[in-house]
Amino acid sequence: MRAIISVANREGLTNLARDLQSRSVEIFSTSGTLKALRSAGVRAESVSALTNFPEILDGRVKTLHPAILAGVLARRDVSKHEEELKKHHIVPLDMVVVNLYPFAATIARPETTLLEALEQIDIGGVTLVRAAAKNFQDVIVLVRPEDYADVLQEWREQGEISLETRRRLAAIAFQQTASYDTAIAEYLRVATGDYFPDELTLPLERIQTLRYGENPHQQAAFYRWNETTTPAKLATVAEAEFLHGKELSYNNLLDLDTALATVQSFTAPTAVIVKHTNPCGLACGDTLLEAYKKAHGGDPISAYGGIIGANRQIDIATAQEIEQLFYEAIIAPEYTPEALALLRKKKNLRLLATHRPIEPLAINTQLLYGGRPEVRTVSGGLLIQTPDAIGGREIEYRVVTDREPTLEEVTDLMFAWKAVSQVKSNAIVLAHKLTLVGVGAGQMNRVTSVQLAVDKAGPRARGAVLASDAYFPFSDGVETAAKVGVTAIIQPGGSIRDEESIRMANRYAIAMIFTGKRHFRH
Ligand code: 5GP
Repeated sequence: MRAIISVANREGLTNLARDLQSRSVEIFSTSGTLKALRSAGVRAESVSALTNFPEILDGRVKTLHPAILAGVLARRDVSKHEEELKKHHIVPLDMVVVNLYPFAATIARPETTLLEALEQIDIGGVTLVRAAAKNFQDVIVLVRPEDYADVLQEWREQGEISLETRRRLAAIAFQQTASYDTAIAEYLRVATGDYFPDELTLPLERIQTLRYGENPHQQAAFYRWNETTTPAKLATVAEAEFLHGKELSYNNLLDLDTALATVQSFTAPTAVIVKHTNPCGLACGDTLLEAYKKAHGGDPISAYGGIIGANRQIDIATAQEIEQLFYEAIIAPEYTPEALALLRKKKNLRLLATHRPIEPLAINTQLLYGGRPEVRTVSGGLLIQTPDAIGGREIEYRVVTDREPTLEEVTDLMFAWKAVSQVKSNAIVLAHKLTLVGVGAGQMNRVTSVQLAVDKAGPRARGAVLASDAYFPFSDGVETAAKVGVTAIIQPGGSIRDEESIRMANRYAIAMIFTGKRHFRH
């Protein structure tokens, strides 16, 4: 038996090769892989021994040769194929282990030039993989180090690799080359300012089937963008580790997403409590414990049964506070062992860890999949957009009133502006001392949202600041806030009646900032 091993990712390579060697498999490799194998003491030959041809063009042509491709593609059950191989002195190849050049990882680095990117487009590896996958009835194809161990185990236990396994491996291989080409196409396309392809193949892999959808009579499943297309290492819900608790539900996942996105906007220790996709409690603090207490205090009634997001490791002090109340789920970068042990006592509480920092990132919205697009459906189709990257530096904050905001107000205004971006439109939030004190979400007119936020805040509206996700079409919203003692406002501006709102603000000595950018969330 003969195997070709040509891998860019050398993970698991030596173990695999040693195992193959112990089964008397002859190994042929491309130069880099060969060097790695030999220095690990594994016997292997150069692919040139098969081709009688050197690797040329700086490695652009290594395995692209009839001697190799015919050896992989020949059908073992067709005597004509066998004869032709013999005639041309070609030996059959029974296993192909290939790891493609890391194209996605290369383009994820902002300093990568076009030439560097093009050099990372694997041609021979893809060809070899597709050839082997096409001929899976006779050839084993391995493209992911994570599959090596299972295949070796099957070999050990069954004495062979079953047709079913070879077919499964072939499917993985074709899926991978498809995603690989998708990433290349996307890279070339977005450089021309064209974000979205004419036809969309969504490179998604299923994480799990959910018990049901939004309601028990709906079917649902949970998918994530597959690895080949997601170079950006952001903390995400789909990649978070599920540590403990009752099975995640469709609605949990939606709320976890809002929770993660909300705390991801802040650098200070921040906690959020989300209900029905809207934050009902949110605060920054010197410690996570302080942030959590403030967040909960913002709206203790709504917090019941909520989903918690935190951008710091959950420590024991915070866990002790959380543990006293009923929550559905928590998402955080990590948990201390003591905190985890304590929270695990709650049988139903779902605990997720991203194992990645939850912090504001220069989100690469350039790339569709790498930028984690947002997808929603409409009947008969779908809508896709790059995420609403929050607080971006491109925003020009402009004071439009007689009074400038104080330093303290500016701090709260920036906090409120980030918070409002996660609230469903029409969205109004009131904030004070880096704590959400009132939210008006999802109303059909803006002044009702203001009224709701003001009502929620009660006496805490006095001295608070207000953020609005879009402009005030009339001055009544500003007036409603002013009458209860709101001192500063941040909003996009842009209404034909902006002047009326500014005049209203000036009448109450409110400081108002225009952002020129809005944060609709429908
Ligand atoms: P090595 O480091 O062993 O020299 O090269 C391994 C890589 O080369 C693998 O990622 C494999 O997919 C790729 N590869 C194999 N054959 C060819 C070829 O003919 N042309 C190109 N461009 N890449 C190849």
